[in-house]
Amino acid sequence: MVLVVFRAQATLVTYPFLLLCPSLVIAASFWRARQVERKSRSAWILLSLGMFIWLCGMILSAWEDLFVHMPISVAWFSDVCFFLFDVPILLAISSVSAEQTIPFFVWMDGLQALLTGYLTYITIFSVTPFSGAALAPVSITTLLLTYKVENVILAVASTLRLLAQPRGPERRFYAILCAYLWMFGVMAWIYNDLAVTTDGHNLIDLMVDVPFLFLSVAIIAPISPQTETAQFAQKNRLAVIIENVSPIFYTVALLALSMSVMRQHFYAGTIGVFTALVVYAVRMSTLQGRHLRVQQQLHEAHDRLEAIALTDGLTNTANRRCFDQTLVVEWNRAVRNQNPLALLLVDIDYFKQLNDRYGHPAGDKCLVSIAAALQSTLPRGGDLLARYGGEEFAVILPGTDDGGARVVATRMQDAIRSLNIRNETQTGTFVTVSIGVAVFTSSHADADEIVEAADQALYRAKAHGRNRVESITQSEHLRERLC
Ligand code: GH3
Ligand code: MG
Ligand code: MG
Repeated sequence: MVLVVFRAQATLVTYPFLLLCPSLVIAASFWRARQVERKSRSAWILLSLGMFIWLCGMILSAWEDLFVHMPISVAWFSDVCFFLFDVPILLAISSVSAEQTIPFFVWMDGLQALLTGYLTYITIFSVTPFSGAALAPVSITTLLLTYKVENVILAVASTLRLLAQPRGPERRFYAILCAYLWMFGVMAWIYNDLAVTTDGHNLIDLMVDVPFLFLSVAIIAPISPQTETAQFAQKNRLAVIIENVSPIFYTVALLALSMSVMRQHFYAGTIGVFTALVVYAVRMSTLQGRHLRVQQQLHEAHDRLEAIALTDGLTNTANRRCFDQTLVVEWNRAVRNQNPLALLLVDIDYFKQLNDRYGHPAGDKCLVSIAAALQSTLPRGGDLLARYGGEEFAVILPGTDDGGARVVATRMQDAIRSLNIRNETQTGTFVTVSIGVAVFTSSHADADEIVEAADQALYRAKAHGRNRVESITQSEHLRERLC
């Protein structure tokens, strides 16, 4: 309305609005940065910084326009700002998700940003800053073309970043930014062409205000609780690729800028190329190191989990799952090598009475002591003691014949007796065990049968009065099965 009413003074009255819109975005971004969690704050701050540079550009533009009366078709200091306003925004797009941020990278990005400023100055004025040489601004057509390319790259980069499925508040930031950048890209494309041809301010200035107004409203719009907590179960492959590639968006941009500067300013361009490559190499090697570290931690965690999955929580011996796996392996090995395999089932006598008389905690303690005593009788590396269930233990003795297995069984009985754990029963004053031994030698059986045979032997030991060792051979077991 102001522009329509004061059409004649359009150049003057348009500036307050052109300054107000980015100021609103700065205020809104700062306000949002205070609302979000600390780790998501940097993106909002970078956006405010970008807007601040734009605002500076507008102030310079007003000064050039109103006081210096610089024609709009000449690139000048305001253009340095309009060119640089993209830097913080591209940094925000390139930043990895908050969980993966490495503080050192922020400094590297800062260094890249400073260098971009330096190269931008050279690009626009064709001389290095503070060199004292007369400024030779690029032609406005070249500059406008650069703006167009820059805006398209930014819009595409932000869309890719959004496709990488950032989560929660981060997603909201990239969604807003992406919408704004597309809007801004289209607006700038049309505006710049019109502004050069019409040379002066009029209603088309409204176009510049629109994306900024949209941005400030979108930033302060309330967040629905759903977006706040939105989590995606799994990222698809494209999302993962984009997330990995996004940190180098900025480096690629710097590389492109440096190479364009290189034609006229060889050393400045080379510094830019060199910095971009070093930053890329440092980033990649740091991430690679981190990746290897995480992988190692993962392996360790996996090993720990596997150990837990195969260990009995109370007695710290192997559990039933470990026993089942080991038995199959050892049985196959025994068959292949034509070696005997012995299996012992050890059952505590009258354990129920111990529990009833002294309580379950005493029963648990007894189980722990017995497991340790049994383990102490197995010096050979290949032997395995496992808690088979309740108060029953199983022992696998590879390459052991009937005689050897009986020796071990008797040693076990002695070890347990010497623990002197009280349990007054028919077998005496202290805890005793019954042991069933099965020794298989030929391949005409499978792993289950040896367990069956040991169980049979244990049953026999119980039936014959407990606190004793009974053994069964493969042929005996076969005979009993046939009967
Ligand atoms: P037998 O001489 O015939 O083997 O008699 P028993 O009492 O040892 O055998 P029974 O099968 O009647 O009882 C086994 C008991 O073992 C019953 C159960 O409460 C106890 N038990 C099983 N697992 C645990 C455990 O983890 N802790 C404790 N404290 N007791 C257990
Ligand atoms: Mg039992
Ligand atoms: Mg028992």
